[in-house]
Amino acid sequence: MAMRIHTVPPSAALSDPGREHRATEPGVPLRCCLRKSLPGEPVWLFRYSPAHGKGPYSEVGPIFTHVECTGAPSHDRLPAALLNSPRVLRSYNAAGQIHDGEVVQPGSFDRAVDDLLTDPSIESLQVRSLSHGCFLFAVTRT
Ligand SMILES: [Zn+2]
Repeated sequence: MAMRIHTVPPSAALSDPGREHRATEPGVPLRCCLRKSLPGEPVWLFRYSPAHGKGPYSEVGPIFTHVECTGAPSHDRLPAALLNSPRVLRSYNAAGQIHDGEVVQPGSFDRAVDDLLTDPSIESLQVRSLSHGCFLFAVTRT
């Protein structure tokens, strides 16, 4: 199934006056280029609300991006660098309400995403951290 991966640009940090600049914060998942940060890479930590949850299902949570991102993540393929741990896959309907949620194990993401996106009542997916619940990226059909 053709999918679109939705990343978060570093410019999104500018809308949070409480954003924090970290000169180095190795090992955090970057929502701009969908990999973990390396030592010495400056990052933003800020509040972010993913676009696909609406009304009461609109959530705000902490995310990291580079301060300046030079990465070029694939927008049509799942990012392997962030899927080597179990993740929560949360599905949303067209009204932006949660349809369902499930825990997906490494190696099973492609099939799980395919299965969910073939369901016409699902419009988007959010991939989240299992331990912290933090938003990582969103997936829709193309
Ligand atoms: Zn980046």
